[in-house]
Parts: sequence; C-alpha cells; structure tokens
Amino acid sequence: MTYRPPIDDILFLLREVIGADSILARPEFAHVDPESLEAAVRQAGRVASDIVAPMNAPADRIGATLENGVVRLPPGFVEAYEAFCDGGWPGLALPEEYGGQAMPEIAQAALSEMSNGASLAFSMLPVCGRAAVRVLLAHAEPDTQALWVPKLASGEWSGTIVMTEPHAGSDIGQARTKAVPQADGSYALTGTKIFISFGDHDATPQNAHIVLARIEGAPEGVRGLSLFLVPRVTMEADGTFGPRNAIAASRIEEKMGIHGSPTCEMRLDGATGYLLGEPERGIQNMFTMINTMRLEVALEGVGIAGAALDKAARYASERVQGGSGGAATAIVEHADIRRTLLRMKALTGGARALCYETAALLDRGRSEEAGFLLPICKAVASEIAVEVASLAIQVHGGHGYISEHGVEQLMRDARITPIYEGTNGIQAVDLLLRKIGRDDARTLSLLCERVEGDLEPAAGGEIGDAVAAGLGEWRRVSSLLLERMAADVNQGLSGATPYLRLAGTVLMGWMWLRMAVAAKDDEYGDEIRTVARFYAADIMPEVDTLARRALVPGELLYTLDSERVARV
Ligand SMILES: Cc1cc2nc3c(=O)[nH]c(=O)nc-3n(C[C@H](O)[C@H](O)[C@H](O)COP(=O)(O)OP(=O)(O)OC[C@H]3O[C@@H](n4cnc5c(N)ncnc54)[C@H](O)[C@@H]3O)c2cc1C
Repeated sequence: MTYRPPIDDILFLLREVIGADSILARPEFAHVDPESLEAAVRQAGRVASDIVAPMNAPADRIGATLENGVVRLPPGFVEAYEAFCDGGWPGLALPEEYGGQAMPEIAQAALSEMSNGASLAFSMLPVCGRAAVRVLLAHAEPDTQALWVPKLASGEWSGTIVMTEPHAGSDIGQARTKAVPQADGSYALTGTKIFISFGDHDATPQNAHIVLARIEGAPEGVRGLSLFLVPRVTMEADGTFGPRNAIAASRIEEKMGIHGSPTCEMRLDGATGYLLGEPERGIQNMFTMINTMRLEVALEGVGIAGAALDKAARYASERVQGGSGGAATAIVEHADIRRTLLRMKALTGGARALCYETAALLDRGRSEEAGFLLPICKAVASEIAVEVASLAIQVHGGHGYISEHGVEQLMRDARITPIYEGTNGIQAVDLLLRKIGRDDARTLSLLCERVEGDLEPAAGGEIGDAVAAGLGEWRRVSSLLLERMAADVNQGLSGATPYLRLAGTVLMGWMWLRMAVAAKDDEYGDEIRTVARFYAADIMPEVDTLARRALVPGELLYTLDSERVARV
C-alpha cells in the first residue's frame, strides 16, 4: 500500500506560514539552515514512504504475538525499525550531546506526521522512546542520563510509558502499584499495569519503562505517586546487561486497530526501579512526557487524515461511474465527491497547520501558548482523523469497506487517537478548567489578540470575515462558561467538549486565513485560497452550532438521576 507524503503542503507551511526561518535564526538552531531543514523533511518523507509504509498492511494482518513471555513484532517491523534508526531519525530533535541532531520541533512534527501517515503502529515505538528521553533529561541523575539517553536517542534501546492500571485510567490517582525502598537506594516495584504500548517486543535488547507507582506509606491519590525508571533488563555497574528484571508482559490485547503495536498487560513482581526526581512528584514529572505525547498524538491524527485524503483523492481520480447525464466519468467529477474531498482537505490542512504552529511555539520558547493549544490540537486532530478516515471509506464506496485499499485500516487505527494520552473528554476539561479557568483566561486573551492581529490583511474576504465572527463567538462562550463554572464547576464543564471543538474550529480557521494570505499567485496558491474559502463556507458555520451546544443548560445533564440517564 503506497503512501505519498504531503511534502509540498508541509514545506509551504514551514516556509510561508509559521516562519521557519525566524525559528532557525535562534541561536539554539544555528547549526540548521533552511536548506538542511528542507532536506530533512524530504528525506523523512522518503523514509515514511519507502521504509515504513511497506510493513503497515502486513503488520496489521499478522499483528504482534506473545510467545513464552516474549512479544514478537510482526514480520518486517524490526527490519524497518533498524533502517529508521540507521538514518538517525529517533534523535532528530534530541540534544546533540546525546547523539541527537537538535533539529527544531517543527522538523520533528514533519517526521512524526509522515511516519504516522505511513504506519501509526510503527511510529508508536520511536515516540515512546523520545518521550522517555524527555523525562530522563528533566528528572534523572547525570549518570543515569549518560547511560540511557544516547541509547534511547539512537533507538538502540526503547522506552515505554507505564501509567494505566485496570481501575486507574483517566483517574490515575487510583494507581496501586507499590514501590518499596531497598537498602541500595533502588526500589522494588510490584503491581499490574495494563494497555502498555510496546510493553515488550523484540526490536531492542533493552527498554526504559517509565513507571508511575506509590512508595510504601505515601498518601493515597494522585499526590502520592512517584516516577521510576524500571529497566527491562537489569544493568551491572560496568554498564553491561545483568539478568532480566522482574517486569514482563503477561498478555497482549486483541484490539480494533494498530495491530502491529503490542498493547501489553505488564506484571511487576518486585522489579528493580530507580526514582526519577523527587518522591511524590510523579504526576508533575510525568507531565514532561505527557505534553510531548499530546502533540505526538495530534500528529498521529494529522498523519492518518493526510494518508486517508491521499488514498481518497487517488481513488476519486481513477474510479469511473456514470453521472446524472449518464456519461461515465471519474467520480471526482461528481459534486458530492468534490464536496467530500474539499472537506477532507480543509479539515486535514487546518489540523496540520495548528499542530505545526504549536510546534513552532515550542521552538520559540513560548511554552504557555503552546501548552494552551496542546489539548486543542490533541482532541481536534484526533477527531478529524476519525472523520477523514471515515470519509475516505465513503469515497471508496464498498471498496473502502473491504481491506484491499487500506482505508478501513486507517479508520480502525485512527480510533484510538481520541482515547489515549488523556481521552478527548479529559482534554476538554483540562482546557476549560486549567488552561482557561486557572489563569483567569490570560493566555486565551493573548491568543485571541494574536488572531485579531492577523485579521487585517484578509478583511472583507470570506475567510477573514468568518474568522472574525468565530472569534467573537469564542470570546462570548468563554466568558459565559467561565461565569457558570464560578457558580458550579459541573455547569461549566457540561459544555467542555463542544467548547473545545469550537476553539479548534476557530483556530483552524485562523490558520487557513494565514495560509490564504501567505499563498502566492500561482496554481498552488489558488488551491490554498479555494480550500480556505471552502473552510469558511462549509466548516466555520459549525461554530454557531458548537456555541449553542456548549451553552446547553448544565442543569439538563443533571435533571435525571444517574440511574435514569443510564437506563436503556
Ligand atoms: C491501544 C492503547 C494503547 C495505550 N497505551 C498506553 C500506554 O502506552 N501507557 C499507558 O499508561 N496507558 C496506555 N493506554 C491507556 C489509555 O491512556 C487509557 O485507556 C485512557 O487514558 C483512558 O482510560 P480508561 O481506558 O481507563 O478509561 P476511563 O478513564 O474509564 O474513561 C471512560 C470514559 O469516561 C470518561 N471520563 C473519565 N473520567 C472523567 C472525568 N473526570 N471527566 C469527564 N469524563 C471522564 C472518559 O473520557 C471516557 O470517555 C493505552 C490504551 C489503549 C487502548
């Protein structure tokens, strides 16, 4: 199943919209020039299409297996991973002193998008390693960093995020895995974790499990959790491998999609672990990783949406069916297919641009604004992935529902993205309660002012007018929900999910406005301006409905008692 990376769209965004040159002018990126950024993006596209994509469909068919306590990845996976590592891709945006290339986050965003578009299941392995590096760099002792980070940055060793337990999903504070201090300063960890991506596998000889657990005697709830590094294989003092640690996969889940990515139940039976950072600061320390992962999951959504759009666009040009006049034409000639493809383009392009804007804010050190956008990017891009994958099936008709074209796999793979790394419901609560409520809407106002500042050049145009109106609605609904929350939190939170989508819809409109303004007077520029107009006409009107839905009286949700709400 071929994958065509959207190189032109990515380069246009980087060069013309989000200002890659001004990022590269920062001293920390003095070693990267615009040509090497472009070369990296083009080469990442080739890696995605030539190395990653070919294993995607077979890995989905065969899946990972658990044999005698060891997880085996599907055929072709390990070879693709080795080639990916040989190219230095796991360390693209990691520090040079640890063997990385210290490229900006915008370069990583391009790599992540295209690798995810080629195979989400594959891309989850390097992403966990990168997230582990971020935690270790922020919270590990220097000697631990010196041993682990270069191996993780090269991809020679891998990482996992080990948080979820059977009774502790969104409410991670209920985690029961225990850590008992040992005489040598290490801890013995015991418990059961579930749903751990790449909890075990045969692609690397060592793995950094980053585990949340409760030190014996620590308080209940989220405040009592600490963070640990638990090696898959114990390490001797001289840096060689010792015996296998007491952490192992006891089961892999049968699931809807991402079959190439083993989702493991993990048993820890007195496993040796090392405290990362201060005790009882586990959640705060884990957030280093969770933030990285939110953008990564958003880029999973963008990658899948892009791949689905590519397949649908190609099919629509090739499939011939008669029109209303009877003449047989490619289905792309039919109005309904055109509308569908334009919607897919508008959603995918808007989500992509918002994610790259967020990556750019991280590169510019504007972490508050980036932090504000992260839950929006995660939730909106993942929802778009599901919608665009579904539309791609529709464009294929019955041929989309069968496996041959690979679009049904995209739909199955996409469906996890609104769930993991904090469900989209939790992202919506985070946006309203923490990102807006707890900073008195300061960052929200800042962002709205930025959007307002960009309206001038497009004043009078469809997209400019639609964004101006959308911005007004966003402000109005924000103040109303904040007022409601001040009186009763649940009254405000009842609108959290449509509110987040409203924010995302306006912000994607802002990105289309910027794209339309930046587009040149050529064929590609015409395409951008037309899709921007379509976004304004077809998608921006959803803001009105979303505003109404966000303001549905909260009391309606609580009029019926829980028993009656859940009655069928
Ligand atoms: C394929 C896969 C891979 C995964 N990989 C990993 C991994 O590598 N590491 C890891 O630690 N975990 C992983 N997870 C776990 C994943 O992060 C959790 O499934 C997710 O956080 C949700 O937890 P839960 O499944 O227990 O759902 P629950 O928390 O039970 O949520 C159920 C529903 O209730 C809603 N809900 C819950 N609490 C609230 C609230 N306070 N307010 C509003 N709504 C709420 C949720 O939004 C959701 O709709 C993975 C899961 C899957 C399926």
